[in-house]
Amino acid sequence: MTTDFHCHLYELIFDADRDEVIARAKAVGVTRFCCDASKESDWTLIEKLYKRYGAETIRPGFGIHPWFADAALPGWQERLVEKLYQYPDAVVAEIGVDWIRRTHVPFDVQTKTFLEQMEIARNLNRSVTIHCVRAWDKMPALFNEFGKFSPEITLHSFSGSILDAQWFLSRYNAFFSFGVEIQSGKRESLMQTYKFLLDNAPQRIRFESDSPYMPLIKGTRNEPSNIISYI
Ligand SMILES: [Zn+2]
Repeated sequence: MTTDFHCHLYELIFDADRDEVIARAKAVGVTRFCCDASKESDWTLIEKLYKRYGAETIRPGFGIHPWFADAALPGWQERLVEKLYQYPDAVVAEIGVDWIRRTHVPFDVQTKTFLEQMEIARNLNRSVTIHCVRAWDKMPALFNEFGKFSPEITLHSFSGSILDAQWFLSRYNAFFSFGVEIQSGKRESLMQTYKFLLDNAPQRIRFESDSPYMPLIKGTRNEPSNIISYI
């Protein structure tokens, strides 16, 4: 039995056949789905899934993704805390920083929103799932400023180096989640990091689909059953 550690099953694109998508995944052994929000309007969609499929099938993730950090409505912090109290098994996700999108959402806005959510997670002792793109070199400074954090940190679609992995392993309760990119094996540096973790910390490896995004075949809709091809 496997968990899809990061997906967006609440997206509209699954509305017509979500039951079948989940059934297909379960048929191949993917039985739990970590459904992580991108923006506040996703939270109610995730709640609906949680109520329909149950806690053993859906792990809710409430949070604000860095791409949407500048569009968060005032008071989101209080509403996030409220939502987390309402769902004791929920994590804070998908949060983080994205250097490529810094022109769309200023990096200081991204980091502020990220650290505020880390603080909320620390106060409520909740795990987090982190999106980090081209900003691994900035993580140590951000985390040093932030300080101790003992709940689980899942680094979704991990793209850091071996040194980045070691940095997190030695300081935090970190897990490294891999997606479709390890199937093709095209990115040599990524494969080196993956192999390093396989050899040194296999219990820290997780897998994700990021459905409906990151399809195996470009232009198609991804779904959680596909993680079977690379785990
Ligand atoms: Zn995602």
